[in-house]
Amino acid sequence: MTRLAQTAGLNDIQREILSTVRDFVDKEIIPVATQLEHRDEYPTEIVEGLKELGLFGLMIPEEYGGLGESLLTYALCVEEIARGWMSVSGIINTHFIVAYMLKQHGTQEQKDTFLPRMALGEVRGAFSMSEPALGSDVSAISSKGVKDGDEYVLHGQKMWLTNGGTSTLVAVLARSDEGHPEGTAPHKSMTTFLVEKEPGFGEVRPGLTIPGKIDKMGYKGVDTTELIMDDLRIPANRVLGGTTGRGFYQMMDGVEVGRVNVAARGCGVAQRAFELGVSYAQQRHTFGKPIAQHQAIQFKLAEMATKVEAAHAMMVNAARKKDSGERNDLEAGMAKYLASEYCKEVVEDAFRIHGGYGFSKEYEIERLYREAPMLLIGEGTAEIQKMIIGRRLLEEYRFQG
Ligand SMILES: Cc1cc2nc3c(=O)[nH]c(=O)nc-3n(C[C@H](O)[C@H](O)[C@H](O)COP(=O)(O)OP(=O)(O)OC[C@H]3O[C@@H](n4cnc5c(N)ncnc54)[C@H](O)[C@@H]3O)c2cc1C
Repeated sequence: MTRLAQTAGLNDIQREILSTVRDFVDKEIIPVATQLEHRDEYPTEIVEGLKELGLFGLMIPEEYGGLGESLLTYALCVEEIARGWMSVSGIINTHFIVAYMLKQHGTQEQKDTFLPRMALGEVRGAFSMSEPALGSDVSAISSKGVKDGDEYVLHGQKMWLTNGGTSTLVAVLARSDEGHPEGTAPHKSMTTFLVEKEPGFGEVRPGLTIPGKIDKMGYKGVDTTELIMDDLRIPANRVLGGTTGRGFYQMMDGVEVGRVNVAARGCGVAQRAFELGVSYAQQRHTFGKPIAQHQAIQFKLAEMATKVEAAHAMMVNAARKKDSGERNDLEAGMAKYLASEYCKEVVEDAFRIHGGYGFSKEYEIERLYREAPMLLIGEGTAEIQKMIIGRRLLEEYRFQG
């Protein structure tokens, strides 16, 4: 199925990368995704394949051993991968955000230390803002890093770390009041700490515990965890960018590219749901003809395909805006909002087209139905996207009267 979600203006390298990734998805991901998902099994072989394709270093500059590709190329790869299995795109997404934050905000020493190994997939990134008491309201973060000589001592509990167990480098956002007196605005008193650790569960470094995997309704295979810091000592040179108080801005920059990425995932999952729906509709017969010949089902297919096209166009637009060096928070917020809502709707329509069989675990659509809701939440809920979009619109269309 190639008619939908085409992207005009790609160069030869981009087309080649995408065709390689699509081939990998068709041969190595789709045939095993549902089985692995039902067992909640980490896709080790798929991850090794992604490493070989260079996907962990797709956007890391060539001087650090990456492919130096654009956000657009990255997002289009994510769309392909999510079409195969959304969890696999989750494995590379937090890695990509941490690599992006290092590239944009890291000191030279931090870039030299981490980026070459991240490009190879040897160091794997996770990022951690959320806590048990907050997700949307990042300004309420209570985890804290206090300076002690050449180190920071971190305390606090973090929640919902995608790749919390498998990662070896976590970008942790915490409050740091050193140099920021009491009463400083929350977003000016936060710092990103680069926390290195062993992969796995339990005490993975003195003062740092990853309790275990959170049992989720979907988005299985990829590990999602808590992270507990109790007297965790971090050298001062592991403050991202070397200066405290910049963490909020660094994380928001990371989340902005992450939103394009979540939009791309929504596009990929919706495309797969459409493929499944249009195929099933031509095989299942009722009242003497394929259900695809009933107008009500054709209308559903028409709506689904239109949503796939619209979400893809907005996602591509948001990625291109960022690649051009312009601020893209408005476009990224719109793309994330629309693509995740449309994804949920397209998946539901494909599910309905499957009738009772959509409820059976033997059918792929059952898995997609449990995966789509995560996109409504991750990288900011619909309400948060609308707040960002609304504020930006009022800036752009300020009343002059
Ligand atoms: C599977 C999974 C993986 C995740 N991975 C990560 C990760 O890797 N790193 C990380 O840091 N976080 C991660 N998260 C956390 C995710 O970012 C948060 O769940 C999300 O930001 C929402 O926060 P919350 O769950 O605390 O909901 P809340 O912020 O408590 O929101 C609850 C509801 O209230 C609404 N709401 C909140 N504030 C407002 C407002 N001002 N106006 C109107 N409505 C509002 C929300 O939209 C939502 O509907 C993950 C979450 C999931 C489920």
